Amino acid sequence: MITFYPGPSKVYPQVADYAAEAVRSGIVSLNHRSPGFMDVVKEAIRLLHEKLAIPADYHIAFVSSATECWEIVAQSLTAETSLHPYAGAFGKKWAEYAYRIKPPVNLSEADVLCLVQNETSNGTQVSPASLTQFRREFSGIIAVDAVSSMAGIAYDWTLADVWFASVQKCFGLPAGLAVLIYSPNALRQAEAIGENEHYNSLLFIHENFAKFQTPYTPNGLGIYLLMRVLDQVPPIAEVDTLTRKRAADWYACINDWAGTPAGAGFKLLVDEVSVRSDTVIAIEGSEAQIKAIKTAAQQAGILLGNGYGDWKNTTFRIANFPAITDPEIDQLRQFLRDFR
Ligand SMILES: *Cc1c(COP(=O)(O)O)cnc(C)c1O
Repeated sequence: MITFYPGPSKVYPQVADYAAEAVRSGIVSLNHRSPGFMDVVKEAIRLLHEKLAIPADYHIAFVSSATECWEIVAQSLTAETSLHPYAGAFGKKWAEYAYRIKPPVNLSEADVLCLVQNETSNGTQVSPASLTQFRREFSGIIAVDAVSSMAGIAYDWTLADVWFASVQKCFGLPAGLAVLIYSPNALRQAEAIGENEHYNSLLFIHENFAKFQTPYTPNGLGIYLLMRVLDQVPPIAEVDTLTRKRAADWYACINDWAGTPAGAGFKLLVDEVSVRSDTVIAIEGSEAQIKAIKTAAQQAGILLGNGYGDWKNTTFRIANFPAITDPEIDQLRQFLRDFR
C-alpha cells in the first residue's frame, strides 16, 4: 500500500533501519540526562538549524505534539489574549484550545497573532506576501502552526516569532514528537509574562534545553529518528524547489483530469491560486464520487487522504510531502487516468 495520507503520512523507508539501530545500539535505553543522549538532542537541533536554514538566534525545543504547542503559546506567551484569523478546521481548533486558556475577553488587547501556515483540512496556505503584511501590521508576537509544511517548503523565519510542527507530516517520521522554534523576542515575552506553572511552561522548557535536556522523559526514539532523517535529507532550498514543482504539476494534472471522462465531476477545492497549498492538494466531488474513488484507489494499493472537518465527505486529499517518491506519484497519476 502506498500512502498519500496527509498525516500520519508516509515515513522515509530508512526509518525502519534507523529505529532498529536505535534499539540495538542502546540509544533508546539511555538516561535522558546522560551525555550520550544530550549529544543526540544537540545534534538534532544543530541539523534543524542547518538543514532548515533556521536563524542561529532562534531557539529550538522538542515537545510531544502541535496540539501541545497550541497550549504552550496560550499559557506561556499570551499575556492577554490571541487573535486567530483562521481558514479551516485546524485553525478553528487552535482558537478553541487557546480561548479555554486565555478567554477572548478583550480582543483589542490581543498580544499574540496565531496563524496556520498550511491549513491541512482544506489545502489552503498563508502566502509569504500575507505573512509579510501580518508582520507589518501586528506589533505583538506572531505564532505559526506550520505542521503540514515545515521541512517541505522554505520560509522567511523572521516573519514570525514562533513556528512549530509535529513530525508525522512533511518530516516523514512517526508521530509523537514536535519541533518548537522561538525567537529571542518570543523568549523575552515569555520572561515578561513569567509563567512557570506547568511541566511544559516555555521558560522551564527553555531552561532544560539550554542543557540539551527536557523537563520530562522525552521521546528519545523520535528525537534520534529526527536526527538521522535530517542528516539524510537535502537542504530546505532544494526540497522547496522540488515540492513547489510537484505541487504545480499536481494542480495542472488535476485540472486536466477534471476535463476528461475519468475525472468528470471532480474539481480542485481551492479556486484562488494564490492560497493553494504546496503540500496538501484537496479535490472536491460528490459524496458518491469521493467514496468511489477512495475505494477504487484502495483496491489499487493506494491510500488517498480522507476529507477533514466540513469537507470530510466531499473531498479527498493528496499529500505532497518529500518522503513520497516520483514512481509513487506516477502510480497515482496513472490510477487517476484509468479511473472508471
Ligand atoms: C496535523 C495537524 C495538527 C495536529 O498535530 P498533532 O501532532 O496531532 O498535535 C495541527 N495543525 C495542523 C495544521 C495539522 O495539520
